[in-house]
Amino acid sequence: MKEDYYALLGVAKGATADEIKKAYRKKAMEFHPDRNPGDKVAEEKFKQISRVYEVLSDEQKRSLYDKHGAAAFEQGGPGGGGGGQRTHRGADPMDIFNQMFGGGGGGGGGFGDMFGGGSQSQETSGEDLRYEITLTLEEAATGISRKVTYRKHKACEKCTGSGAEPGSKKSRCPTCGGQGHVVRSNGFFQMRQVCPSCGGQGERIEKPCRGCAGEGRVVGDHSVDLRIPPGVDTGTRLRSSNNGSAGRRNGAAGDLYVEITIQDHELFERDGDDLACAVPVKFSIAALGGPIEVPKLKGKTILKIPAGTQGGTTFRLKGEGMPKLRGGTCGDLLVRVDIDVPKKLTDAQRSALQAYADASNDGATPVSDSWKHKFRKFFS
Ligand SMILES: [Zn+2]
Ligand SMILES: [Zn+2]
Repeated sequence: MKEDYYALLGVAKGATADEIKKAYRKKAMEFHPDRNPGDKVAEEKFKQISRVYEVLSDEQKRSLYDKHGAAAFEQGGPGGGGGGQRTHRGADPMDIFNQMFGGGGGGGGGFGDMFGGGSQSQETSGEDLRYEITLTLEEAATGISRKVTYRKHKACEKCTGSGAEPGSKKSRCPTCGGQGHVVRSNGFFQMRQVCPSCGGQGERIEKPCRGCAGEGRVVGDHSVDLRIPPGVDTGTRLRSSNNGSAGRRNGAAGDLYVEITIQDHELFERDGDDLACAVPVKFSIAALGGPIEVPKLKGKTILKIPAGTQGGTTFRLKGEGMPKLRGGTCGDLLVRVDIDVPKKLTDAQRSALQAYADASNDGATPVSDSWKHKFRKFFS
């Protein structure tokens, strides 16, 4: 099997690390199983480019590939079940995908950069958690602080997260000799792995803590004040660093991913940073022109519509839409005029309207002249 890793990613052989990363992200998005449910071909392709990226994104492995070709990464001879095995932890392509699809953090504080370096998952690291939060449109416009409580692993208080019974002894881990990692070799290169016996701590616990069975963490309620920045939308994903599960034996905590949903609004529809609102205007006002009251997210304003305003006409109120998540200006508010035709008429209204219709000769020409012209042309 002679695979050209560069061709698979669609980059030149001399591509920079950045170009390789970009090419991989593009392909990963295209073939990600979430986007291609049930598509076996896409799934295989996704696995393949992930495997290729694992090599080309690592300087050492890349130079091996350049020297020896794909053979350097095939184990156990031909037909060995789809190429190299996963050789180390921490390069889950799904993680990268999730980061790419984050709605964006920054701004309002409390959340780290969604595109920050992927955290190296180790045996001791805590899990990332998800929290779903629903906001009104008004809350999304201003941003809010909300205290949320959820269950997660927290550091064990009894042993302060160490996993050792207070007062008990610790000794050097015999598997790794206290290094916290072990080195494995596949004949081409050596890899460091987190020590499977001590989980990277380098210590062996003589007497596990009875509060947490030596894990250094227990499940409990955890509260955090989430600061949601203005401008979030349905699908925005924010990361709250270190608010995921606590790590085992004082390992690094995971992150909390907050997923936003915005409720529908009675008056406004949202389109990105713009808001749209339909206002039913009496047909006589549309014909004569005049001031109409229109709602804004905060308060209301008067819009003067010109005489002869047609149904469907849209007026743009600059900067009255939603704030942009990354700060700066706001979107616009689009006010669409709907013509409100009365369903019932009083006698006085009817005779006034009849007089209007007579004056306009509407009985003879019930549709507009320009329309009539098109109509005739079509049937001629
Ligand atoms: Zn404990
Ligand atoms: Zn060890």
